[in-house]
Amino acid sequence: MLHFFYGVMGSSKSAMLLMQRHNYLQLGRRVALIKPAIDTRIDAVTVYSRVGLQAAADIVLDAGSSVREQLSWLAVRHGHNTFPFVFVDEAQFLTEAQVQEIADMSDEHEFYCYGLKTDFLGNFFPGSAALMRLAEEISEVPGGLCWCGSKATMNARVDANGTVIKHGEQVLIDNQQAIRYVGLCYYHWRIGKSHA
Ligand SMILES: [Zn+2]
Repeated sequence: MLHFFYGVMGSSKSAMLLMQRHNYLQLGRRVALIKPAIDTRIDAVTVYSRVGLQAAADIVLDAGSSVREQLSWLAVRHGHNTFPFVFVDEAQFLTEAQVQEIADMSDEHEFYCYGLKTDFLGNFFPGSAALMRLAEEISEVPGGLCWCGSKATMNARVDANGTVIKHGEQVLIDNQQAIRYVGLCYYHWRIGKSHA
């Protein structure tokens, strides 16, 4: 089955993923952790959450790579047939073809994909659009709050002064630029106000 858990920046998606993965590991289940290569917040291989949990990804997935092939090679390296449980962090960075591949494998694996629904302009990422179309279960990761205390539903790109930026490429990773991302309520996202 293919599950998509979406949430805004700051909603502890990666923490939820890592806790759920931990529960399966404690039961002795075979679990694979995938991270798209585009996310370089800490380093290429670490799945990191702001609350302090982290784990090394088993597969760092390039845009041109096949999920099926990568999982097969991982299973061979570990002397298994397969990984029944597969977790994907930052799943918005999957390509549409990779999400299609995952959907087509979801009778053989439980896929837990965690990621953003929309970018800083309110548009789908290719990966999240495909997940919204094809996932069999779609859930919101709760807890993301705007600075005003309302529920955050949108992601804003802000510069070092806290000014909301409404132009630029869809993907700019925060540790490489003088930018960061925050979750805002729709109203404050619309008027571009990222702080009191
Ligand atoms: Zn607000």
